[in-house]
Amino acid sequence: MRPATGPVTFLGMPAFPANAAAAVGNSQLRFNLRKATHTIREKRASVVDELPDWARLRQAGKQIKDHTLRNLERYLLQLEEAVTAAGGHVHWAADAREANRIVTRLVKETGESDVVKVKSMATQEIGLNEALAEAGITAYETDLAELIVQLGDDLPSHILVPAIHRSRAEIREIFLERMAAWGRPAPEELTDDPRALAEAARRHLRERFLSTKVAISGANFMIAETGTLVVLESEGNGRMCLTLPERLISVVGIEKLLPTWRDLEVFMQLLPRSSTGERMNPYTSTWTGATEGQEFHLVLLDNGRTRVLADEVGRQALRCIRCSACLNVCPVYERAGGHAYGSVYPGPIGAILTPQLRGMSSPLDASLPYASTLCGACFDVCPVAIDIPEVLVSLRGRAPHPRAERFGMRAAGWVLDRPERMARAERMAGRLRRFVPRRMPGPLSAWTDTRDLPEIPAESFRDWWLRTDGGSR
Ligand code: SF4
Repeated sequence: MRPATGPVTFLGMPAFPANAAAAVGNSQLRFNLRKATHTIREKRASVVDELPDWARLRQAGKQIKDHTLRNLERYLLQLEEAVTAAGGHVHWAADAREANRIVTRLVKETGESDVVKVKSMATQEIGLNEALAEAGITAYETDLAELIVQLGDDLPSHILVPAIHRSRAEIREIFLERMAAWGRPAPEELTDDPRALAEAARRHLRERFLSTKVAISGANFMIAETGTLVVLESEGNGRMCLTLPERLISVVGIEKLLPTWRDLEVFMQLLPRSSTGERMNPYTSTWTGATEGQEFHLVLLDNGRTRVLADEVGRQALRCIRCSACLNVCPVYERAGGHAYGSVYPGPIGAILTPQLRGMSSPLDASLPYASTLCGACFDVCPVAIDIPEVLVSLRGRAPHPRAERFGMRAAGWVLDRPERMARAERMAGRLRRFVPRRMPGPLSAWTDTRDLPEIPAESFRDWWLRTDGGSR
């Protein structure tokens, strides 16, 4: 039976403040998020503390990524040559539309109408499942959390745990109600015990693995020197997708490159500890080109990445290895949840990556650089030392601002530019302080709704200093 495709999309969502306000009112969501993020962040902290050279590993990760990004063109061509020499086919996609067109064609060539998928942020970014559905092809997610999102006609809300906003009871309901429409139904006596839920998913997916001839994946890393792709995962579903089907199509962002196998050593220590809080993830799959009985196609995706690369401050976002450590420590993410960011990339990394990849023309994308307290917790945990607050501030400077705000900032700049102007302004404010309202009028009220205006003193510090000679009279 063909499953119903839910009309779920991030497109057209309101700006972050409106989404966040709705989310913080959902106490169940806040409870689920707090419990899950605190558990993962504590696990991460304990395994990171075990490594005395963590700071040096982090620095090495940053330097390898920066070197690769500086020489991206050279390494991409080296990768293409190596993949082709190993019997694979390389396709270049400038944007989401082109990538979707290539993948759809590659699936259609096989005559198949079903594909299995390994969890992949890149394919979510380009809306591949929706594009395939339009062409009559059904994509079956095989990662447990992605399966929950797909069966529930839902949207992902976390990079690593896309169904983090769901409780066990909700997952049981989704399995009982929706699994049958997508294949093998859940057992009627299903409980919300994690083992029972995992077993229901395992049985449901196994039939799909054995019968599907085309698989679509992303990759955590690509090694330029050998043309090898690397996928890290926890459940083994990826290994099944990567090995069983006759045609494997991998859609990978061009920034996922590493020059050599030696470089991978650094990231094999950084990524599992930062993402799941494990010393090592249970499954690491690597493959180079075509293998016996399997054709391999690699779609290299730009979709705005070269534009990000041209930005001196913003380009550091391309170092991201999608570990999600920054989400798990972010006080804004913990309360607002992932859907509020209106993108497959939520949390601090989403707040800097989405506006750079999509631009800031929509109210939602223009609001994302403000979805942060700038506390810096994200920077502290990032395994590749992305200075997220620095990028946020830079993006805020470029975001569209209301005319009244622009005028206000220009006026403030004029006053602050000269000490004598500042002194006159302080004296005037002291004289008029009785007339300053507690709550600002018009659009400025948004600021005073949540903050108290500071008391304006009758005498400024500067005048007090002059009058008392620095407090000596
Ligand atoms: S920005 Fe850093 S901490 Fe956040 S997902 Fe990317 S690599 Fe991980």
